[in-house]
Amino acid sequence: MTFEEIKALDDKYIMHTYGRSPVAFVSGEGATLTDTEGKKYVDLTSGIGVNVLGHAHPALVKTVAEQAAKLMHVSNLYYTEPDVRAAKLICDHAGMAKVFFANSGAEANEGLLKLARKYSFDKYGAKRTKVITLQNSFHGRTVMTLEATGQDKFHNYFFPFTEGFIYAKANDIEDLKEKITDEVCAFLVEPIQGESGIRPLDPGYLAEAAEICREKDILVLFDEVQTGMGHTGTLFAFEQTGVKPDAFSMAKGIAGGIPMGAVVASEKCADVLSAGTHGSTFGGNPLAAAAAVTVLETLLAPGFLEGVKEKGEYLKKSILDMDLPAVQGIRGTGLMLGIVVDPEKRAGYVSELLKKGVVVLTAGTDAIRLLPPLVITKEEMDIALKAFKEVLG
Ligand SMILES: *Cc1c(COP(=O)(O)O)cnc(C)c1O
Repeated sequence: MTFEEIKALDDKYIMHTYGRSPVAFVSGEGATLTDTEGKKYVDLTSGIGVNVLGHAHPALVKTVAEQAAKLMHVSNLYYTEPDVRAAKLICDHAGMAKVFFANSGAEANEGLLKLARKYSFDKYGAKRTKVITLQNSFHGRTVMTLEATGQDKFHNYFFPFTEGFIYAKANDIEDLKEKITDEVCAFLVEPIQGESGIRPLDPGYLAEAAEICREKDILVLFDEVQTGMGHTGTLFAFEQTGVKPDAFSMAKGIAGGIPMGAVVASEKCADVLSAGTHGSTFGGNPLAAAAAVTVLETLLAPGFLEGVKEKGEYLKKSILDMDLPAVQGIRGTGLMLGIVVDPEKRAGYVSELLKKGVVVLTAGTDAIRLLPPLVITKEEMDIALKAFKEVLG
């Protein structure tokens, strides 16, 4: 089909919940995408942090094809090998105890919030139900995760929302202290706020917040849906914060493009979600789990994540060194970067970049967000840098 044919059918049959860019992609390789006209683009989005191994990665393609031909799904009523292998890789690396597999970030966060409430219920009864999240956070699109999200614009239309969320100011320890009451069971944060503009939390704030929470047996939860799976230069962002959460969620990049999410818990709360209290038909099915094993093994191979850090530094330094008038700064780390620009002009820059064959994301009001596949090459980065120079120069 041509782009026009696809767009016409999309307009007619797909609900208009997304603002789409005027391009239809048909194939990809590494960090390069090809559209319906055969035009090539450098992908600096990895499908919003998902395609960590890029497009058509040979090992991942092989795993998925072989697993699909063997066994795709049997439900969680039976044992399978791929999910235990994926869970062991995650726990061993993270220093965690147990995993629950889901299918998306929002579903992983729902599981994480259920775990926190039940942890508290089991120990203290039904009086500690509240969860503190941060202003400008983003935790997902289900009714509970919308309410967990600390942005008013998400608390609309779908009333009644799930009760029990309190929004604290990021990096403001006094505000957090004021908001902690005897009813709070958990503190949930993104170590780097992604959707709201690539805003890392201060390590000092996180350390102090974690200490306050632990004194009161309030669970420290990280939403690593976007920061997890290597984009920050370590497998999980918490490895760089100095604070290890009691439990965390992950999704986006975990299976490299096959839908998957996970709740990962430390010893302290590993057995909270007991038989019959939580579940998911698709969660951890052999196809997604086998893909996750290949992605995890690739990311954890010696040197891979160091390479991500180096690429991130190259990209960041090259952008700053060009001293482009439109660039007001860069936030973030590794290959999770936000180029700060004038909010009024951002949409124009993004569409100009697309015309020049570079696909980028936005985040918050002022950031051009870069989340390239972790396998991006220097040549691909240099094509993108040339386009930045032209568009932002
Ligand atoms: C993307 C994202 C989510 C939601 O994930 P879905 O897979 O879209 O449900 C939740 N939290 C964070 C931090 C995210 O970046």
